[in-house]
Amino acid sequence: MFESLSERLGGVFDRLTKQGALSADDVKTALREVRVALLEADVSLPVARDFIKAVEAKATGSAVTKSITPGQQVVKIVHDALIDMLRGEGEADALKIDNPPAPILMVGLQGSGKTTTTAKLAKRLKEKQGKRVLMASLDIYRPAAMEQLAILGTQIGIDTLPIVKGESAVQIAKRAKQQATLGGYDVYMLDTAGRLHIDEVLMSEVQQVRDAVSPRETLLVVDGLTGQVAVDVAQEFEDKVGISGVVLTRMDGDGRGGAALSMRAVTGKPIRFVGLGEKMDALETFEAERIAGRILG
Ligand code: GDP
Repeated sequence: MFESLSERLGGVFDRLTKQGALSADDVKTALREVRVALLEADVSLPVARDFIKAVEAKATGSAVTKSITPGQQVVKIVHDALIDMLRGEGEADALKIDNPPAPILMVGLQGSGKTTTTAKLAKRLKEKQGKRVLMASLDIYRPAAMEQLAILGTQIGIDTLPIVKGESAVQIAKRAKQQATLGGYDVYMLDTAGRLHIDEVLMSEVQQVRDAVSPRETLLVVDGLTGQVAVDVAQEFEDKVGISGVVLTRMDGDGRGGAALSMRAVTGKPIRFVGLGEKMDALETFEAERIAGRILG
């Protein structure tokens, strides 16, 4: 298990005397620990470096109030800086679902939790926003994936587009659009096929679907446990397809969530939701405070 950042800092500051303000040396010593902890939490090196620089500037010379120790003071500065970095503008969880039926394109690698997340999100839209949602699987390569979405749909009371064998992904997307329009749905969600790795076929298929429906939102689902890989995948999807946000799954697992910090900094795209388990209710809006707390430990 990880040693938490707060614990690390506690140890460092036990050796420091209480002073009225943080000295440059105090800050340097503490930030060395912060850097190691960030790297252990799978924050990428350049992001960790930039972060440390920003915190160093803020922390040096800052007054230590009587009620807290210098260690706690640095933790607080780091915590606030993490939140600043995670937050960013336009983080509103509200998905753009004006002008019905609004298409939401779900993209990502196989096994990232895409199908589960599609269903979770559909349920959320229905329950929290009273939307009528239609789901369609475009995974023509894996009949089991199509069936999985249909089964989840039945479980949560969300309609799925009937499966027609032999159609291309684009044909299914167009049929979903038509059915959503005729059926008076507010939203139709397209669960695209995943692959084990990013490849040209996957990308070009997603591009064709995107061009056919002009999605209001394109959400990338990535496994939060894969750390830096999740960030690389996001960058690739952003470059090739363009995404409006990210859903980080498996944030109920053991990972420290460093991917969240790098995600924002590297791709510039907001994390909109986090997956916190296999159950259909285990999806929450992204909250900078929670993730910052988690990275700090
Ligand atoms: P897909 O191939 O990307 O469509 O992945 P699936 O939606 O089929 O999910 C793969 C597995 O991950 C399933 O067993 C899901 O229940 C599980 N899963 C999805 N999201 C989460 C999550 O947030 N936390 C946990 N613990 N498991 C998840």
